[in-house]
Amino acid sequence: MTVNADPQELNKFGEQAHRWWDLDGDFRSLHRINPLRLDWIDARAALKGKTVLDVGCGGGILAESMAARDADVLGIDLSTKPLRVAQLHAMESGVVMQYREVAVEDLAAERPASFDVVSCMEMLEHVPDPASVVRACATLVKPGGWVFFSTLNRNVKAFALAIVAAEHVLKLLPKGTHEYARFIRPSELSRWCREAGLSAVGFKGLEYNPLTGRYWLSDDTSVNYLLACRAP
Ligand code: SAH
Repeated sequence: MTVNADPQELNKFGEQAHRWWDLDGDFRSLHRINPLRLDWIDARAALKGKTVLDVGCGGGILAESMAARDADVLGIDLSTKPLRVAQLHAMESGVVMQYREVAVEDLAAERPASFDVVSCMEMLEHVPDPASVVRACATLVKPGGWVFFSTLNRNVKAFALAIVAAEHVLKLLPKGTHEYARFIRPSELSRWCREAGLSAVGFKGLEYNPLTGRYWLSDDTSVNYLLACRAP
């Protein structure tokens, strides 16, 4: 099987990897939203003592924070440098967890039904075949387990805010971080989940106020959104 990854995307994250844990650097938005998504996941899946897979973990912002809540976490990605940064950071923090460079589809073939919780955040919009990632996540989760996704919606408002405003005006993200055509409508994501046998339990929107710099979860899924799913 050819790997479901775009080498240019992986390089882009590789080149920025050394800044991953800089709270004021290129990944500052991920740092800012992390407590919100961590609490949202933990409130549903009760992370403590659970086996967790974080797909497209990058430098480990979410993965490490879940491990710090006493989950047994494996973070996977296909970009080498962010994974190295993630490993070093976990060592420095004294958090025990695993990282591995492996495609989610390959891990699904190797270890089906192995994780209580699978998270895949801000990654689907960087992948050539996101439905394949959704199917692999559905294969990896144990019966009754949780799968959490987050991505960017595809509409005029998302284009204006996630690309024009975030990359060009407010400079929250480096230019070229996102490609509009790869954004995913909630209807598309829920269809892929349904086709993979997952049931969508609830959507949440992630909103941002550029004047206050505050992020919060809401019911407005028009730009950035999260989806919680359960395996049967
Ligand atoms: N999930 C993390 C990082 C998001 S950045 C967080 O939310 O904090 C997007 C990540 O997806 C990058 O680390 C990038 O290397 C990874 N990625 C992109 N394409 C991928 C693929 N095909 N397989 C695995 N990871 C991929």
